[in-house]
Amino acid sequence: MRDANLYRLMRRRFPADLDQPCLLLPGGATVTYRTLDARSAQIAHALVSAGCVAGDRVAAQVEKSATAVCLYLACLRAGLVYLPLNTGYQQRELSYFLLDAKPRVIVCSPDAMGSMSAIATPRMRIFTLDDRDQGSLINEIRTCFEDFKPVPLQEGDLAAILYTSGTTGRSKGAMLSHGNLAANALTLGEYWAFSAADVLYHALPIYHVHGLFVAIHCVLLSGSRMWFCPRFDVKEALELLPRSSVMMGVPTFYTRLLANPEFGRKHCATVRVFISGSAPLLPETFASFEERTGVRILERYGMTETGMNTSNPLFGERIGGTVGPPLPGVSVRVTGADGKSVPAGDIGGIEVKGPNVFRGYWGMPEKTAEDFTADGFFRTGDMGRLPANGYLQIVGRAKDLIITGGLNVYPKEIEELIDSLPGVLESAVIGIPHPDFGEAVTAVVVAQPNARLTSNKIIAALKPQLAGFKMPKYVYMVADLPRNTMGKVQKNILRQQYEK
Ligand code: AMP
Repeated sequence: MRDANLYRLMRRRFPADLDQPCLLLPGGATVTYRTLDARSAQIAHALVSAGCVAGDRVAAQVEKSATAVCLYLACLRAGLVYLPLNTGYQQRELSYFLLDAKPRVIVCSPDAMGSMSAIATPRMRIFTLDDRDQGSLINEIRTCFEDFKPVPLQEGDLAAILYTSGTTGRSKGAMLSHGNLAANALTLGEYWAFSAADVLYHALPIYHVHGLFVAIHCVLLSGSRMWFCPRFDVKEALELLPRSSVMMGVPTFYTRLLANPEFGRKHCATVRVFISGSAPLLPETFASFEERTGVRILERYGMTETGMNTSNPLFGERIGGTVGPPLPGVSVRVTGADGKSVPAGDIGGIEVKGPNVFRGYWGMPEKTAEDFTADGFFRTGDMGRLPANGYLQIVGRAKDLIITGGLNVYPKEIEELIDSLPGVLESAVIGIPHPDFGEAVTAVVVAQPNARLTSNKIIAALKPQLAGFKMPKYVYMVADLPRNTMGKVQKNILRQQYEK
């Protein structure tokens, strides 16, 4: 049977000349493919020496660095399951992940060594690694061999577990196999036409599907290069974009670029595609970007459990406010409460099926079974509509749907209306418990700088445009909306804040 180890596939696609750079660090240093290959082999040896056997988990709460990438590659090579953890997680959250996934090895920053030791069990071996590639992991690998034959694997063997952000209930560990990651990476590389000539501007975190899989896989499978920036910084972006050919970002990156008056066409001349995802790109942002630069952002849709599902086309028409048609090999359908497909263009639950869809939630067989239909589609929990043109539109998370007086209100409809009012920068619409209606539609609004907006003015502007049951019962003006590192508005925080 074919060996499905993802590293083997990557290695075959590395440039013939391994001394080609892969990572371009903003300070001027480069990391070649040869170094990635050698250092990931050394780490694979170190992990095996630490007692890891195929299938063991390796947890990493580390800053973005070349060695952090090698740690991921080492896990692939050795058949270990990589468990990246958001660098913002605190001890209480980490304790849950460690108890749940029971990693054999933990890699953390030197500063976190004390707190990590306090929650790790004696069986877990801890190494340290900082953002300058220093730490006990580096000491450990110094004497290790620089080659390591990838362990032969089946497509279903696990490559990684990524915990979902878990805005309600327990965070769930999505199990992704070598086959899942390879299928999605190959599809994206082809769909977005990655080639060895590309230079990706990479300023995303690497503990999330977007920065770790979508971005890094596209580069490694095309033998190209990437600016490897620790975080998104507008000034740095303005310097590096003219030396890049692709940018991948969350919507916040694009709104921050647009907020800088210097940003314009001259920064985009070499960039063949700007890709956005992980959170909704406002149609206004799509339009302003096109107006300023002449370029249409390519929006795509995916999630931890599935990798990427749909994408606006590279060559065909890109439509703002949509996430494009399903990717080749991925089936997408929109269903109603009865589980049947709704008529084209109607709102329903988005379900997906394909080789990209994960193997299930770690240690949660019942939850996994609940989230799949009898014919193998995954219920994404997103609501959307699929009109006759085949371009999917996301309406929001099912759990954000507001039911008021027994009637459904889709927050996005109200948000779009509020966002279109003069003086509004952005808004979030949530449902908060209400004794009479069940939930009360509540709007949280950010005004543009210097706009003289009040709640009453917003209510007055909405009234003639909305059915009574959709009208916000409360409107709060705030300075900004709470967002996570991927730019998603944290509606759970807003709900807690405004619950009466
Ligand atoms: P995560 O698992 O953190 O990547 O979050 C996945 C969720 O982000 C999806 O289920 C969607 O709710 C949301 N999402 C991702 N991409 C988009 C997009 N282009 N537009 C709207 N929502 C998106």
